[in-house]
Amino acid sequence: PVVLGIETSCDETGVGIVRGRTLLANVIASSMDEHARYGGVVPEVAARAHLEAMNPTIEAALAEAGIGLDAVDAIAVTSGPGLAGALMVGVGAAKALAVATGRPLYAVNHLVGHVGADVLADEPLEYPTIALLVSGGHTSLLVVRDLVGDVELLGETIDDAAGEAFDKVARILGLPYPGGPQIDRVAAGGDPKAIHFPRGLMQPKDDAKHRYDFSFSGLKTAVARWVERAEDAGEEVPVADVAASFREAVVDVLLTKAFRASADFGIPRLLLGGGVVANARVREEAARRAGLAGVSLRIPPLSLCTDNGAMIAALGAQLIMAGHRPSELGFGADSTLPVTEIQVARS
Ligand code: ATP
Ligand code: MG
Ligand code: FE
Repeated sequence: PVVLGIETSCDETGVGIVRGRTLLANVIASSMDEHARYGGVVPEVAARAHLEAMNPTIEAALAEAGIGLDAVDAIAVTSGPGLAGALMVGVGAAKALAVATGRPLYAVNHLVGHVGADVLADEPLEYPTIALLVSGGHTSLLVVRDLVGDVELLGETIDDAAGEAFDKVARILGLPYPGGPQIDRVAAGGDPKAIHFPRGLMQPKDDAKHRYDFSFSGLKTAVARWVERAEDAGEEVPVADVAASFREAVVDVLLTKAFRASADFGIPRLLLGGGVVANARVREEAARRAGLAGVSLRIPPLSLCTDNGAMIAALGAQLIMAGHRPSELGFGADSTLPVTEIQVARS
């Protein structure tokens, strides 16, 4: 089926079009620049930007796919989680489009969209698979037995998300928002062993309660203290070394826990998803450890890691191909939708 997917959970207005698992279009309008001067996303600004960008982005996606609206078989939309006002713009647009075209509407989970993005670049997923979702708002370890039917949450961050830690540490280092790509760039010229930053919840004593959980707020504080001490001592802060050492600590924790889950459950498959998976060191080190552990690894291409409409369209298409019914139009935006709820308001 040809599915048009709409994504507005944060500051990206994303419209993607797929035919089954084939990507036809992926257009993204971002209001990132408008938020940069505030050092983070301003919800009202994001919602308004979505409203302005929505129709042009739909038009651009149809043009990129080289099809008209009449060739679209179904609409898919992110119903959560995310910023309530931002989500509402996408949900409203998707409902209007579904009603006007008479096409079915699938209201789906943004996080499951991230996890399933790689199907657009590769073969269908093999099950079960361990999945590591690392984004701006979430850091979660999952067992996926069926992307459109059975997603189990093993553990998640007990404080900051990994992407949030990247953004906060970037701010500490005086790098612009969003910080993830900036840290990645600067870290390339630094020594990852220069400073040993703490790895949260990695002590044996944490295992009983937090074997698959994450914690990044202690790491962020450790970086802040280190930088403060250097400044107080009148030293020049070695930004590249701090960035590289911080990035190394995050990557170490993320991958140690993901490969541990793979070993514990005897599941030799690992799937990565979310904006932080765009990180060069995450990609490189995941591949290295997968080789050592004999785990088959799937990492989405860069363009499908951060927020986009194609991953939402792909999830909609997979729901359809699995024979699932569309959503009832009464659904709303759910800013705290849990990752285990793959589709909302199934009829
Ligand atoms: P969620 O998906 O949890 O609702 P989100 O949609 O805001 O949150 P994404 O768009 O998936 O998050 O990812 C954005 C996050 O990814 C930001 O925190 C950003 O700093 C981080 N990020 C993007 N590129 C990189 C990179 N190269 N290295 C590290 N982090 C990155
Ligand atoms: Mg974003
Ligand atoms: Fe996201």
